[in-house]
Amino acid sequence: MTLTDVIVVGAGPTGLMLAAELRLAGVRPLVLERHPRLRETAKAGGLGGQILELLRYRGLLERLEAAVTGPVPPPVFPFGGLHVDLSDLADPPMHALPLPQARLERLLDDRARELGAEIRRGHEVLAVTQDGDSVTVGVRGPDGPYEVTARYVVGCDGPRSRVRELAGIGFPGTSYPEVNRIGQVTVPAGITVRPDGDLEVPGLGTVHAGFTRTDRGVFGFGSVTPGVLMFSTVEEEPVEYDDDVPMDLAEFQASIGRVLGGEFPLGEPRRLSRFTFKARQASSYGAGRVFVAGDAAHLFPATGVALNAGLLDAVNLAWKLAAGVDGWAPPGLLATYHEERHFAGARTMLHTQAQVALRRGLDPAADALREVVGELLTDEVVVRRVGALIAGTDIRYPGGDHPLTGTFAPDLALHTDDGPTSVAELLRRARPVFVDLAGRPDLREVVAEWPRVEVCAAKTDRPPADALLIRPDGYIAWAASESPADALRAALTAWFG
Ligand SMILES: Cc1cc2nc3c(=O)[nH]c(=O)nc-3n(C[C@H](O)[C@H](O)[C@H](O)COP(=O)(O)OP(=O)(O)OC[C@H]3O[C@@H](n4cnc5c(N)ncnc54)[C@H](O)[C@@H]3O)c2cc1C
Repeated sequence: MTLTDVIVVGAGPTGLMLAAELRLAGVRPLVLERHPRLRETAKAGGLGGQILELLRYRGLLERLEAAVTGPVPPPVFPFGGLHVDLSDLADPPMHALPLPQARLERLLDDRARELGAEIRRGHEVLAVTQDGDSVTVGVRGPDGPYEVTARYVVGCDGPRSRVRELAGIGFPGTSYPEVNRIGQVTVPAGITVRPDGDLEVPGLGTVHAGFTRTDRGVFGFGSVTPGVLMFSTVEEEPVEYDDDVPMDLAEFQASIGRVLGGEFPLGEPRRLSRFTFKARQASSYGAGRVFVAGDAAHLFPATGVALNAGLLDAVNLAWKLAAGVDGWAPPGLLATYHEERHFAGARTMLHTQAQVALRRGLDPAADALREVVGELLTDEVVVRRVGALIAGTDIRYPGGDHPLTGTFAPDLALHTDDGPTSVAELLRRARPVFVDLAGRPDLREVVAEWPRVEVCAAKTDRPPADALLIRPDGYIAWAASESPADALRAALTAWFG
């Protein structure tokens, strides 16, 4: 039997991100993935929200941006059948990268391997047992069954997580009896796109741009690039699909036909996907030495938020696990993973369930609700608030007195005696950093007792505080204005042992 630091079950985006972050923290992860090859199924079409800023801090965003081949769409995001249009904002709170999930996974796989993570594909985890010191997983590999033992196991094994089930973690919530289908196809022969954006469809007449509600569901369309249209349907169907089983063109065409009540021609498919909506969140993100992250921990009933939440789980958990492996984790540090990420997940659940209420109602009251919210979404203050909600940039982890504590550290431009740097640059190696912005040797002296915390004395325009103690995941552990050194010592002890 082999012994490793952390076993990561599942090489989806969450598991791969976790493996890379664990390597940055100096820990040996072993990733076990049941599929023999990298996934090709069309799932997410892009990545957006707070995670993009973290990826930039890690120096990874440029690489992801370079892999984007299609046009970058305008910053307009769906919100419960309506749209949040951020195009007029100079500094929008939400950004997105149109990077198909299969490509994202390949890049994250490259990154994790470059950093030295071991990834075994074709290895399915069947059993998980733990005692006070370690966790053992039973694996079925290409050469037969075997066992591996680790200090911790993280289930990044998706919606039907076996790790979650074996750890006895509940997954309460709702599955909505509704199927969403999306397809990008070339402009079908016989269909005319009018100058106002509406479609003329033989046999069906004019189909207006945006969403059309019928008693069979919702049909939507918009243009993607010249010559390519995006169609979508939402139908009430009490069927559970496996997300890894792709949809074909005939299934999509039949769905549009049912919603619009007539035959609808489709061109060449560029991208087809189907998903069902669930609102479920793990009752606990950890049980003993076993944790869950990503879709294994939460499923939200709206698009565009799941990857952001899952990758941020991974970043939050990695350095805390490393502290446990290295033996310096202060009491309660690992418990903050559940406290913080369950809290963040609950907030995402709040707005995605509000979107369900907006989207699903078919009576005049629901129409009125949509009209009112649609009107509000023309107001800049509201657009900013809702954009930040979708992006998760408004998250402030609980605890801490200073208003900056628990928020994501802004990327300050820093001027040091050794030249210019920035918060992003300091966080590239995922080390905790103390940034002294007001020439406070008294505070730097305290931090010197924690050699694992890097110290940077710098000047910046409009400093948000005298000093910032920033965790490896980019969140502020402590911020000083007038606070005495004792408060800093308490924060360092609580977070960094
Ligand atoms: C059609 C569609 C469109 C989507 N669009 C978006 C979008 O626009 N934006 C967005 O943010 N999200 C979107 N999502 C959701 C997004 O795809 C998921 O949130 C994401 O895949 C979750 O990543 P994960 O790594 O947590 O889990 P998964 O991607 O599910 O990965 C889990 C991995 O674990 C492996 N595994 C499972 N069990 C075991 C086992 N016992 N042993 C070993 N390995 C195991 C699986 O094979 C899989 O590779 C979409 C999903 C679908 C289906």
